This record gives sequence, structure tokens and C-alpha cells, in this order.
Amino acid sequence: MGNERRIINVAIDGPAGAGKSTVAQRAAHVLDFIYVDTGAMYRAMTLAWMRDRCVIDAQFVTAHDVSFVSVNGHLRIHLDGKDVHTDVRSPEVSQHVAAVSAHRVVRERLVALQRRIAADGGVVMDGRDIGTAVLPDAAVKVFLTASVHVRAARRCAEWGGASLEDVAEAIRARDARDETREQSPLVCAPDALRIDSTHMTIDAVVGTIVHAVQAVIHRV
Ligand code: C5P
Repeated sequence: MGNERRIINVAIDGPAGAGKSTVAQRAAHVLDFIYVDTGAMYRAMTLAWMRDRCVIDAQFVTAHDVSFVSVNGHLRIHLDGKDVHTDVRSPEVSQHVAAVSAHRVVRERLVALQRRIAADGGVVMDGRDIGTAVLPDAAVKVFLTASVHVRAARRCAEWGGASLEDVAEAIRARDARDETREQSPLVCAPDALRIDSTHMTIDAVVGTIVHAVQAVIHRV
């Protein structure tokens, strides 16, 4: 894909466990775009808070450095210079992340970073507010959903251990916090392509997104 990709960004939003990161990664690979996992950035900030257990204010936010380092063409999340891509996936981080990410100071800092990363285009970025707040001019916006039951089943298959009902409950709680917070709540952008993946394969979802991006590329 030529230089057109430089001016195109893809925003993928949706609730927890909808499969955003899997499809975003695969779509980025097919399109030769860079995948940016903004959830990992909020998770890294949450890890910092779990270590400090302090008030979440400007001082806390500026005391920590959340960044990505490119490893074999993939962006790996770092906190204060250390690779934390495994630590940010812990259940404890998942439990606290919605509360930490609801803080305006946290969002302002991370959104500025996300916009810088996407400034040159060629990015597939997934999160909760990408199409509505971070990249409102993204060429393609997708809102990916699936039933709570299917999302919980996918998470159980990934993690093992926890019961389906416990995972479903944790997902419902996180969605509720993300949807009702004051700062950039999780909502579907009016111009987003809504995809319900409950009965779709990953390939079918990726194909739909790639097709939408190619349609835009052919129009520019
Ligand atoms: O995508 P992931 O499940 O890793 O996101 C973890 C949490 O980070 C979300 O539940 C949400 O609270 C927060 N988040 C956010 N805005 C984003 C991405 C993630 O508030 N753009």
C-alpha cells in the first residue's frame, strides 16, 4: 500500500472483550499499518498507581512515563523505561483500570500522546474514545461489540481459571464504569461502522474493516 496510508487512521472502539485488539492487530498487519493499543497505556498508568497508591493528580501523572517501544515492528508498552506488557494484563490492573482512566489528568496526558503517535497516519488505534475524542477525523471508525456472554466466554478461554459468570460480571462492571464516566465515556460515534461480532469469525470482522479502509483509500 503506497503513501495514501500516511493520511489514513483507523479508530476501533468498543466494550471489554469485544475482540478489538485481535482484529485491530490483524487489520493493521494486512494494511501494513501500525497497531496502537491505548488500553495498554491506561493499564500502565494503573500499574503506576498500584505501586504509588497516591492521589491521582497532575503531579502523579507527570511523575510517570508511559511510552511505546518498537520491538520487531510491534509497539510494546513501557512504564518508566521498563517493559510492562505482561504486568499490565493482570486481573488486579483490570480491576482498577476503569477507575484510574476516569481521571481527567490521566486522559489529557495519554490522549496527547495518542494524537502524537497518530499524527502521520498509518495507524490502527483501539480503545474506548478513539473515534469520538482522540481521532474524531479518523478516516474509518469502527464500533465493535458482541454479547456479554460471548465476550466473557472469549476472556475465559484466554485466561482459564475464573468462572464464566464471574468474568461476565467483571466485564459488565467495567463497561458500566466506562459508559457512565464524565470524561469521554464509551459511546458509538455517529459516523462509526457498527459491527456486532457475536456470530462472526475474526477473519470476517477483519475483512469488513480492511474492506472499509480500502474503499476510503480508493476514494482519496
Ligand atoms: O482495552 P482494554 O480492556 O485493555 O482497556 C482497559 C481499560 O482502559 C478500559 O476498561 C477503560 O477503562 C480504559 N480505556 C479508556 N480509553 C481508552 C482505552 C482504554 O478509558 N481509549
